[in-house]
Amino acid sequence: MKIQWDKQRCSHSGNCVKSMPEVFKILDGQFVIEPDKAAYDEIVKVVNQCPSGALKCID
Ligand code: SF4
Repeated sequence: MKIQWDKQRCSHSGNCVKSMPEVFKILDGQFVIEPDKAAYDEIVKVVNQCPSGALKCID
């Protein structure tokens, strides 16, 4: 599974980082996504809760 992040769309609400810090994290000031750190269905839920639509699952 890959997750696409649209930097321009992201409203920096922090929902993803707060809901699933093992997958969505800030490392050295960079937003990093590690999709292998949680179950697919759980990640999809977080992606769907992104308020700006900046996150997308690509398989
Ligand atoms: S939930 Fe969406 S809008 Fe909020 S920080 Fe994450 S990617 Fe950005």
